[in-house]
Amino acid sequence: MSLSSPRRLAELTWPEARDAAAAGAIALVPIGSTEAHGPHLPLATDVLLSEELARRSVLALRLAGRPSLIAPSIGYAVTEFAAPFGGTVSIRPATATALYADVCAGLQARGFDRVCLINSHLEPAHVATLKAACARVVTDGGSPVCFPDQMERRWARTLTEEFKRGACHAGRYETSLLLAARPELVRESRAALPPLAIDLARAMRAGVTDFVAAGAADAYFGDPAAATAEEGEAIYHLLVEIVLATVGELWPD
Ligand SMILES: [Zn+2]
Repeated sequence: MSLSSPRRLAELTWPEARDAAAAGAIALVPIGSTEAHGPHLPLATDVLLSEELARRSVLALRLAGRPSLIAPSIGYAVTEFAAPFGGTVSIRPATATALYADVCAGLQARGFDRVCLINSHLEPAHVATLKAACARVVTDGGSPVCFPDQMERRWARTLTEEFKRGACHAGRYETSLLLAARPELVRESRAALPPLAIDLARAMRAGVTDFVAAGAADAYFGDPAAATAEEGEAIYHLLVEIVLATVGELWPD
């Protein structure tokens, strides 16, 4: 196995998966949405960002002596803010919570006691479904699920200025990450997009319920034209640190 190719559960046979579970491998589940990300990023942006974060996290966990693998991604979520835009598919909160909880419980039932959700879709109602799913797994008798949440204040303050200003949808932050992960999917039209300095987080707190009402007629915030792959690399470094720290808190050994 090469250093750059982490194990993927979907590519294992069942005896290989059984053995990986018996060896205590942490199962990372990439989670995202199918959602408008400006005129310059693909609908699957959040899924792709989570898959890349999971890939980098598996390599970092390996260096830390912790075996892990990547489970199949979940690409649907509550995404009401992008609902007016083409291609966006939002599922109901109850459906999302049940889906995430069932996947975690299913992995645990086959011996993957340690499940970690890798998320890049930051809509509060979605993050709430992830937290509800984690709680449900434990209520139903399962093991605690690890959820590194970059929206937590202690982590958010370590991220970039644009992220902290709340313009964290399809702007410089996410565009930089996708440039580092899948540059061929970033449309060159981004260079001509004017910056939109709207605090989406504040607009959400004020009761706005979709991107258009928040002032983003093209489904992006912040400054995608300023994004660089180098900044994406730096952000990934920080995000991997958040994953490793959260994994270490829940499972110190
Ligand atoms: Zn996103």
